Amino acid sequence: MPTKTFKRGLHVPERKEATEEKSAEAVPAPAQVVIPVNQHFGAPNQSIVAVGDTVRRGQKIADASGLMTVPVHASISGVVKKIEPRTQSNNIEGTCIVIEAAPEGAASEGAQAGDDFMPPLDVYACSKEEALTRIRDAGIVGMGGAGFPVHVKLNPPPNKPIDFVIANAAECEPYLTTDEWLMSEKAELFIQGMAAVMHIAGVSRGIIGLEDNKARLKPVLEKAVNAVAPKGEIIVELLQTKYPQGGEKFLITALTGRQVPSGGLPMDVGCIVQNVGTLAAVAEAFQLGKPLIERSLTVTGGACKTPKNIIAPIGTLIGELPQTFMDIDYERLKKIIFGGPMMGVAVPTTLIPVQKNTSGVVLMDASELRAFDETYCIRCGRCIRNCPCRLTPVLINEALEAGDFDEALRTGLIDCIECGCCSYVCPARIKLVQRFRVGKQRFRTIQAAQAKPAK
Ligand code: SF4
Ligand code: SF4
Repeated sequence: MPTKTFKRGLHVPERKEATEEKSAEAVPAPAQVVIPVNQHFGAPNQSIVAVGDTVRRGQKIADASGLMTVPVHASISGVVKKIEPRTQSNNIEGTCIVIEAAPEGAASEGAQAGDDFMPPLDVYACSKEEALTRIRDAGIVGMGGAGFPVHVKLNPPPNKPIDFVIANAAECEPYLTTDEWLMSEKAELFIQGMAAVMHIAGVSRGIIGLEDNKARLKPVLEKAVNAVAPKGEIIVELLQTKYPQGGEKFLITALTGRQVPSGGLPMDVGCIVQNVGTLAAVAEAFQLGKPLIERSLTVTGGACKTPKNIIAPIGTLIGELPQTFMDIDYERLKKIIFGGPMMGVAVPTTLIPVQKNTSGVVLMDASELRAFDETYCIRCGRCIRNCPCRLTPVLINEALEAGDFDEALRTGLIDCIECGCCSYVCPARIKLVQRFRVGKQRFRTIQAAQAKPAK
């Protein structure tokens, strides 16, 4: 049976062999964690603890009022040592809460004595409002992307009826295998989360979109669906292995034939898309009352002597893990990327905290870099032919270079999903996606300034 896909995009080297089919290992108890107070897309949080406070694992430590906010929780038990600006995984400074571990250590996975978790809640017996409040209180955001609050996604306006919940199981970024691990070893938890989300959103049809390089997991997931016996139907669809198959818009098109309009959202075409890790976190929020305080991620790359999938408390510093657990060859290390190599962000040090949306850390050596100097555009059109959003990257870039911001917007800057396909194929090595990121950031700054009421 032909696998489903979308038009354009790229076949990039997968480079997953170092960690695929490996179990995730829980990191040894960290001596400290550095927890950014803002890990979501929305209004900023404020710390609600002070230096010197004792905190318990699972305790809320930062929050704000407003629809588009979610709290942040202590990922280990200990004492608040500092509250100060630190560089985060987006390479921007932001307020972080530094917690030094209590002597008994920082437990990982499951509920432990002394944890400050919420009581379990039966998602099928509570009201929709209670369920959405639980997801917000657990601090759950999309774990595969920009950190969009999940409780907001699950509560679209009445004029946006939802037909499908789609589980994004593509994991199309090279190197990353953490979702593959989760689907392999925690399939039922993930399906329980998906069934819960379908119930909350009042949806009877669920689709798991799985790239065909992980086809071995299809029967595993189908068995888990049978075991969970969700109220609605959940099917597993194989997708062609192609980048960026895991982009929300491309998943929706491949699986339902629907097209999200320019500037639109999945709910505009009756869809909710969630990453598999996010769905597992939803299940734990109900079953264990557990907030989003740890995540699995892949740590790999040519400068990593011990590539593996790990389970780490939020705020873990990869560079502080013991060498016996995570052996990094600093002499060979040339580039550190938080996330995957296509959409991730290059950071200056390994002492950057793992966040809710950190799906991987790629530690590259010289052989993995594409460090060529930029030359001049030769008008080859490759960037246009490969852009999955059907944009004209060369024109957006020219507009930004000319300082013509209006023209950049007119040619689609805001519709760019920052997938990096254009930069990857450009023979002139023009840093297209990097410029688009800066341009979009500038657009958001202008928007925020215009939204402020005049004094
Ligand atoms: S313009 Fe944006 S969406 Fe298109 S290929 Fe480049 S980065 Fe991807
Ligand atoms: S791929 Fe590079 S060289 Fe070719 S048209 Fe686009 S920007 Fe110019």
